[in-house]
Amino acid sequence: MPQLFDVAIVGSGPAGAAAAIHAARAGHSVALLDSAEFPRDKTCGDGLTPRAMHQLDLLGIKVNPSYRNHGLKLHGYGGSVTAPWPDTYPTNEGTALPRHEFDALLVREAVAAGATLIHGTATAPELAGNRIVSFSVVDGSGATDTMKARWIIVADGVRSTFGKQLGRTWHKDEVYGIAARSYSSSPRASEGWMHSHVELKDADGVVQPGYGWIFPLGAELGQVNIGLGALSTKSRPAKINTKKLLETYAAQQRAEWGLGPVEKVASAALPMGGAVSTVAGANWMLIGDAAACVNPLNGEGIDYGLETAAMAVSLLGGKDFTLVWPDRLRAAYGEAFVLARTAARLLTYPQFLPVAGPVALRGPVGRMLMPAAARLMGNLITDEDRDLIARAWKLAGHGVAWARRDTPLWS
Ligand SMILES: Cc1cc2nc3c(=O)[nH]c(=O)nc-3n(C[C@H](O)[C@H](O)[C@H](O)COP(=O)(O)OP(=O)(O)OC[C@H]3O[C@@H](n4cnc5c(N)ncnc54)[C@H](O)[C@@H]3O)c2cc1C
Repeated sequence: MPQLFDVAIVGSGPAGAAAAIHAARAGHSVALLDSAEFPRDKTCGDGLTPRAMHQLDLLGIKVNPSYRNHGLKLHGYGGSVTAPWPDTYPTNEGTALPRHEFDALLVREAVAAGATLIHGTATAPELAGNRIVSFSVVDGSGATDTMKARWIIVADGVRSTFGKQLGRTWHKDEVYGIAARSYSSSPRASEGWMHSHVELKDADGVVQPGYGWIFPLGAELGQVNIGLGALSTKSRPAKINTKKLLETYAAQQRAEWGLGPVEKVASAALPMGGAVSTVAGANWMLIGDAAACVNPLNGEGIDYGLETAAMAVSLLGGKDFTLVWPDRLRAAYGEAFVLARTAARLLTYPQFLPVAGPVALRGPVGRMLMPAAARLMGNLITDEDRDLIARAWKLAGHGVAWARRDTPLWS
């Protein structure tokens, strides 16, 4: 007999687990699937900005309560800028927690809310038109079960193996990220700022097209997440070996941060800014990384995973998601993501940062604009904000979205 649920959720990362919590709390019967057993690692910077914190507050979940950060410190080209989280957003605190712990915490909350956790890989959707009738779940031993649900939320991450079987396509001619992360002990693990180094040099001192980060994880863990990322497009792929450059970056920062050896070095790609198509059918929706809901300007996707989870669950009960879901995503993020994608594209030109970096981090223009960097990079501007920076950002968003109206955006 096939298993029958109101909602089946494929993938139990932050997006899937949050969808399971929302759906179970709304009274639906929920199957939460993952091919991995939790706790499991996920290559990530582990940073939670106010956007993510706000969603976690709405879920009533406390994360790493003994550690909070207050914004970004950007370094490079002979300058440094401190950019605090804005007071205008519902919360002005961030934190960080290794995904090994964070994701397991959310999955426990989902189970506590009533979701049934199932260990297995979702595959082979059986379709009637673009409606999923059933799909197979293959467990570790190779045994196959059939799953049926009224609605299916697909939260299977960057590669979206299940989403691909439904037609999800990733447009790599738009900007995407490649990144590596690791962990290291540091006496500065309790420092309340996320740090980013935008002048990244290889072992020969040559500036590389990317940025490094050091995200403290709090005194209890005594560690920092140290990593680096670069932006690419199919026609201008970032020609860097992220893992090797990470070792060099860590060596450059070792004295200042008192770093121990780097551990658990891992790399991954990031889809960004909604550059995927076919994200919904009659009874299914893609959320989180599967729908490329990652901010191109700072690489954060946990917050968008949590947000798209809440948005998708709020639509359950509706008739057909095929057009409704991409429309909903475009209304929420379209302009901000296209603007961020367009700005991020500049970073794929090797000449851009060496020219713009000194202006932004040292000159008078930078002194005026860069304190707002955390707000702009983190897309922490709400619909209600009416100040000059918010107005200018929104105006730029309208303009760029209009100019690039044919760019792939969940379509
Ligand atoms: C190096 C790096 C650094 C990053 N740093 C940050 C950061 O500091 N802050 C931030 O907000 N974001 C960061 N991101 C982005 C962030 O990691 C992702 O946006 C986030 O993990 C998306 O969550 P998700 O739930 O959509 O997907 P995932 O977390 O990838 O979860 C997907 C889950 O689906 C499961 N799965 C896949 N296929 C199937 C299947 N067929 N059947 C069943 N289960 C399946 C997987 O096992 C996995 O558990 C970073 C990404 C990278 C690569």
